[in-house]
Formats: sequence, structure tokens, C-alpha cells
Amino acid sequence: AILDRIEQVDNQVQAFVTVTREQALAQAEEIDRRRQQGEELGPLAGIPFALKDNMCTRGIRTTCSSKILHNFIPPYNATVWDKLQAAGAVLVGKTNLDEFAMGSSTENSGFFPTHNPYDLERVPGGSSGGSAAAVAAGEALFSLGSDTGGSIRQPAAFCGLVGLKPTYGLVSRYGLIAFASSLDQIGPFARTVRDCALITQTIAGHDPKDSTSAGLPVPDYLQALEGGVKGLKVGVPREYYQVEGIQPEIRAAVEKTIKALEDLGAEVGECSLPHTRYALATYYLIAPAEASSNLARYDGVQYGLRVEGEDIVEMYKKTRSQGFGPEVKRRIMLGTYALSSGYYDAYYLKALKVRTLIKQDFDQAFARFDVLLSPTTPTVAFKFGEKAADPISMYLSDIFTMSSNLAGIPAISIPVGLTDGLPVGVQFMGKAFDEATLFRVSYAVE
Ligand code: GLN
Repeated sequence: AILDRIEQVDNQVQAFVTVTREQALAQAEEIDRRRQQGEELGPLAGIPFALKDNMCTRGIRTTCSSKILHNFIPPYNATVWDKLQAAGAVLVGKTNLDEFAMGSSTENSGFFPTHNPYDLERVPGGSSGGSAAAVAAGEALFSLGSDTGGSIRQPAAFCGLVGLKPTYGLVSRYGLIAFASSLDQIGPFARTVRDCALITQTIAGHDPKDSTSAGLPVPDYLQALEGGVKGLKVGVPREYYQVEGIQPEIRAAVEKTIKALEDLGAEVGECSLPHTRYALATYYLIAPAEASSNLARYDGVQYGLRVEGEDIVEMYKKTRSQGFGPEVKRRIMLGTYALSSGYYDAYYLKALKVRTLIKQDFDQAFARFDVLLSPTTPTVAFKFGEKAADPISMYLSDIFTMSSNLAGIPAISIPVGLTDGLPVGVQFMGKAFDEATLFRVSYAVE
């Protein structure tokens, strides 16, 4: 049924770069066979899902929606895909993204933009826009995305879904094609908080193949759902409301959530994250710096596109000039500049120091509060082209989401209704490795 649905709607939504029809049917038949033999099956047995196309799938093309990887077939699997496969989930395809996960609308995809199923004239958000649109359009029951500065939560908000960026280190990044390694995390898109908790349970946990993966035991997230919010302390960061350009309906959604939490017995109070105004600048130094280093490997030699030249230097130049799109080139230039000698101290090192201050803001807030509540995005899904010509205005759509990547803490976006037919989301941020509380509070107000 899901494959039929993809056939019906994906020519309009364009969520998928690759649909793995044959493989999905074979995987489903195999699960069915095991079921008939009375084998005990995993918790996601037979559930069709999609993966953002920056997670490696052995034998299945993995492109990062970039021309430079248009023909790349990985020889190994991302750990998340191994884990989902072991739980019985059936992969139906690989979803579109902003090239190398750089963007907030999927307009930076090297192939085509994805459309928001709520309004095809609007973007689904990004960079994991394909993963969000696929679930919203009924082309998968859940999906995985990656979040470096908001790329799960912002598209979840734009497409009316639950989306979680886990604590840095909770989910293995092995096989996730790196954008900014100190910020990247893989997480789920789901229709409900319960589904989101179940998927997180499946993909979380220590992985010796990822040296940044944490060694902590994974709590029982499903059990944590029912606890309620009586006495829970919810902080509302003052600085987030001083951001210019927040749509009134978004403010109203946060107010409504505050009221709902208070009615359920939570204590809501104001808190301060004074370094918020530096988050965007800090992110746009650190993320491009790491990206410029990570993307150095696309040289036309090891894998992906090669454009021949007279000599090796010309081959590099032609391959990278033709293989990367404009946003990726912009990031490589920004990052290379920030890391170059003479500028390193003034930009990159300074950004690392401010990152510590941002993290300390959160430490202080979490000394008083269990979770923090904010909008996920300043506006609902915007129209194609509205921000594409102005990188800075596009960067601003992640103003509420990127601080939690810089601090490494978990954050979830949940849908809180529609305005003019378009979804609105709110965000809860939590203490490191306290996803359980995020699920509990989200479940209570869902
Ligand atoms: N939109 C932000 C960027 O362009 C975040 C992207 C992401 O989280 N992958 O960098």
C-alpha cells in the first residue's frame, strides 16, 4: 500500500531520490515468511520507512542530493539502518535533502526541490525535507533525518510531525555522511510521540564504530511516556521572544501550550539564555569550518563524480566546480576562511569560546528547570523562492533550533495545530540524555 501511495503522490511531492521497491517487497516477504514460521519478530516488523539520503545503505545509491555523489553506492550500512533492519522495519526509499544537509527548504538539493504536502507551493523545510514530506504525505510511516542546526525539527514543524534531535552521542553517526561532525545527530520523524519514542529506542545506544557515541544504557522511553507533568518545571527563555519576525500565530501556539501545561499541573516560569543572539554567528562559523574539512574528501579520486582534466589539479578543480552546488561552495569558502592561519583565532577559536558560553546558559537554565519550551520556527512553511535568494534570511529560520546543537542537548518539535491550513510546531529542549522527559512532556500535551 505504501509503495502504491508513493506511485500516486510522489510525482507531486518529490520526497524520494530513490524508491527501493524491489528490495522493500523482498524484505517484506522475508518478514512474512518468518512470521509464518512462528519466529519472534522485532518491534518494527513490517513497518515501511524512509531514510534521508545522507545515510549509507549497502548496495543502494546514497547521494546526499549532490551531483558529486550521484553515482555513489556505499559498501557498508549506517548503524541506524542495521538496527532498524534488525527490528524488522522495511526500507521503502531514500529521501531528498538540501545538498549535504546545508539548507532549510530542500531548495538546495542538487536534483529537485521537495514540496510540502500541506501546500505544494510551499517548502517542506530542510534539510531533511524529503524525510518529513514522505511521512506527512503517507509515503512512509516514519523516517529518519539528520539535524545539525535544526534539520529535523524545522521540517517536522513545517509538515505537522513529531521530530527529535537526540542528545549528541545518543545515536551512532557511523555511516551518516558528515556535514559538521560535532553538531550532526540522526533522529526520527513520526506522526505521534509514542512512535517517536519507539523509533528512538530502536536506534539509540553505544556503537564502537562511532568514537563520539556515548556508553550509557538506553532508558525505556515507552514506559516514560505516561508519567504526566505534575510538578514538572518548564522554563520559557525570554530571549527567544525578542527575536524579530515571529509570526503571531506561532506566539499563540506557545501560549496555548503553556496554558495546557499549567492545566496539567506543570510549573511554567521565565528563564534567560543571554547568549542566544550569538548562536547564529557561532553556528555559521563552526558548521562551515567542519564542513570545509569534511568535504575535502570529494576529490574525484576516491568516489563519486570525476571530471577529467589535463592534470590532477585541473581534475580536482573541475570535479569540485561541477559537482558541488552554490550553497556548498559558499560553506566551503566560509569555513576555509575561518580556519585559515591569521583568521583561526579571530573566528573559529572565538566561535568555540562562545559555544561554551551558550552551553553554560543551558546548564544554568537546567539547574532550575526540567525542560525549556520555545517555538520551533519563527514562521510556518514559506513559499518556494521566498528566501532562496537571500542566504541570511534562510539562515534565520533556524534561530530557535541551532543552540541545542551547539550545546549538544536533545530537543523535540511537536505539532500543535494548523494556522490557515499550515502546521505549527513548538519545541521542548531537555537536559543531556534526558530524552525520556522530552517524550513525557510532549506526550502529555500532544
Ligand atoms: N539549516 C541549517 C544549515 O543550513 C541546518 C542544517 C542542518 O541541520 N543540517 O546549516
